[in-house]
Amino acid sequence: MSIDPRSYAYPDDILKGRIVLVTGSSDGIGKALALHAAGLGARLVLHGRSVPKLEAVYDAIEAIDGAPRPSIAVLDLESANAETFTTLAQSIESEFGRLDGLVHNASILGERFPIGQYDAVTWQKVMHVNVTAAFALTQVLLPLLNASEDPSVVFTSSGVGRCGKAFWGAYAVSKFATEGLSQVLAAEHRQGKLRSNCINPGPTRTNMRLAACPAEDRDKLRRPGDILAPYVYLLGPDSKGVTGESFDAQ
Ligand code: NAP
Repeated sequence: MSIDPRSYAYPDDILKGRIVLVTGSSDGIGKALALHAAGLGARLVLHGRSVPKLEAVYDAIEAIDGAPRPSIAVLDLESANAETFTTLAQSIESEFGRLDGLVHNASILGERFPIGQYDAVTWQKVMHVNVTAAFALTQVLLPLLNASEDPSVVFTSSGVGRCGKAFWGAYAVSKFATEGLSQVLAAEHRQGKLRSNCINPGPTRTNMRLAACPAEDRDKLRRPGDILAPYVYLLGPDSKGVTGESFDAQ
C-alpha cells in the first residue's frame, strides 16, 4: 500500500543520525522544518543569509530536549559564487563527511506583475536565487550526498509551478524550472541510491505568502508547522526508492 505523505505518521526518532541541510531555515517553512527535524533526531545544517535569525533558530534547537547541536552555514544565494559554494561544501565535508538530506527551501517572490511590465533585473534575480543557486548548491554537494547511504534531495515547488497563473511572473517560471531540475536529477540517479523529489507546500502562513497575497484572511492559512509530514517522509527511510515525484503538502 502506498503512503500518502500528507498523513505520514512516524516515530519521534525517525531522522536520528541524519545530517540535513535546509536552505532558508531562518524563517517560515524552512525554520519550522529545521526545528521539527532536529526534534526528530536530525543534525541540522541551518542555512540562511541573516546571522541573527540563524542564531535564534540555533538557540531554539539547543533548547529542544535531545536534539543534536546544529551547524550554521551563512550564504546569501543572490551573491554566492563558485568559491563560496565550495567553501560551504568543504565545511560540511570536514565536519560530517557526508550529507543525508538536502532541502532546497529558500526562495524569493520577486514582484507580482504581468509579463509585459515585469522588470528584467528582478526576473534575473528570482531565477538566480530560486533555480541557479539550487543547481549550484546541488552540484557542489553531490559528492557528499553520494557519500551517504540514503541520500534525499527535496526541492520546493508551488502550485503556480505546475499551472501557469497570471501575474506570478518569474516566481512561477522558477518553480516550473525547479520541478524540472528535480526530475532531471532524479532521472540521472534512477539506478543509484540518491532520490530527488518536489514538495508544493500550498498556501502557508509566512512572510512570503503575506507579500504575495496581502488581502487574504491569514487565519484561514495553515501554519508552517502543520505541513511538515511530507518533508519528514522524504527525508526519512520510508521514502527509499521514491524519486522524480512531486507531492502536495496540503
Ligand atoms: P519565507 O518565509 O519568505 O522564507 C524564505 C526563506 O528563504 C528565509 O529563510 C529567507 O531568509 C531565505 N532566503 C531568501 N532569499 C535568500 C537568499 N538570497 N539567500 C539565502 N536565503 C534566502 O518563505 P516561505 O513561505 O517559508 O517559503 C519557503 C518555500 O516554500 C519557498 O521555496 C517558497 O517558494 C515555497 N512556497 C511557499 C508557499 C507559502 O504559501 N508560504 C507556497 C508555495 C511554495 P531571510 O530570513 O533572511 O529572509
